[in-house]
Amino acid sequence: MNRKDFLKLCGILGVGIPAQAAISGCSKDFVTTKFSGKVIIIGAGPGGMSAAYLLQQLGVDYEVLEASNHVGGRIRTDDSFADFPIPLGAEWLETEVGVLQDIVNDASVDVQVTTTFDNPDFKFVNSSWLDFFESYILPSIADKIQFNKVVTSIEYGDAKVKIGTKDNTYESDAVFVSVPLKVLQDGHISFTPTLPSYKTKAIQEAEIWSGFKAFIEFKSDFYGDGHSFDIQPETDGQKLYYDATFGQASTKNILGLFTIGKPAEDYTNLQGDVLRDYILKELDGLFDNKATPNYVNHIVQNWNDEPFIQGGYLSDHADWKLVRDLGKSIDNKVFFAGGPYSDGNDWVSVHVAAASAKTAVEALVS
Ligand SMILES: Cc1cc2nc3c(=O)[nH]c(=O)nc-3n(C[C@H](O)[C@H](O)[C@H](O)COP(=O)(O)OP(=O)(O)OC[C@H]3O[C@@H](n4cnc5c(N)ncnc54)[C@H](O)[C@@H]3O)c2cc1C
Repeated sequence: MNRKDFLKLCGILGVGIPAQAAISGCSKDFVTTKFSGKVIIIGAGPGGMSAAYLLQQLGVDYEVLEASNHVGGRIRTDDSFADFPIPLGAEWLETEVGVLQDIVNDASVDVQVTTTFDNPDFKFVNSSWLDFFESYILPSIADKIQFNKVVTSIEYGDAKVKIGTKDNTYESDAVFVSVPLKVLQDGHISFTPTLPSYKTKAIQEAEIWSGFKAFIEFKSDFYGDGHSFDIQPETDGQKLYYDATFGQASTKNILGLFTIGKPAEDYTNLQGDVLRDYILKELDGLFDNKATPNYVNHIVQNWNDEPFIQGGYLSDHADWKLVRDLGKSIDNKVFFAGGPYSDGNDWVSVHVAAASAKTAVEALVS
């Protein structure tokens, strides 16, 4: 590795250049023992895409296997319902805006955001988390992503890791598991040998909340900022009606419903007109019977019903020790990169998925 690559590597891994000689993570040994094999990444959500982007920058050979026919996982949007992208999953930027530059490893990244009613969170302006990944991350990794590849098995006992789908077996030197935790919890991917008992325990004991969002268009803005519910106990989840057009250049009146955990199950168990009427009845109760006469249209996103997601996300109240076990790599071959596979210091979010990918890449190449 030449000095330019060396400095680039330190930059990607967030190691300050002046301090690099003194930091074991960027010592000479670190450079000479860097990984030189092939990686397969399972899942093209924010975690998988972030891992791919970093490997691409490092010049590591990799391939991404994605079960669905699109990238993004739980950052999916709907671009036809309104005059701004509707975030069907992740909507808020739940940290400092500078994290966007960190994810791309480029200080020139400049994305327009607005503060929200939920200060200090931010929202993208007429844009989304998906737009961000499509603009800055996807272009350099798109040709390495294979779609409609549902991974069902990982064999990691031999020198090579074997990754199985219905029709193919792929070989690599390391695998990055970047699928939702519920996919592992429900046993949709088998591991040979079986995962260490601490890891199996962490996967099985994790509480994964149900997840649901709805967006309802009305003729007028009778609801103001919306309405937040005080869920007790708070470990049960969250529920919030909010003005989805806040900070957007929009001519529409759209109320969002975000709900996660037990309160979400009131909606995930309903469908079609019954679900619409349930929401309108609730809103009529909250807003003086103004919802039904003002109703125009709606869309819903039930994350529990998504075949390759199967739930909302790991409870915000998960034990941090359990979360740390979820994130640990195995035998320097099986790495975990995604929202729940973190150091347990923050709740599951897009920026945590990206940080988890960075940690996994760092562990792989060091
Ligand atoms: C309702 C809701 C609201 C949210 N709001 C926010 C928010 O406002 N802000 C925020 O930061 N975060 C939010 N989140 C959380 C955020 O969306 C997730 O933390 C983030 O998407 C996790 O990224 P990931 O890459 O780990 O997983 P995902 O985004 O779930 O991506 C996983 C990918 O793996 C693929 N996959 C699954 N199984 C297989 C298989 N067997 N083989 C191959 N591929 C497979 C899936 O198709 C998917 O593309 C929200 C989530 C929900 C559900």
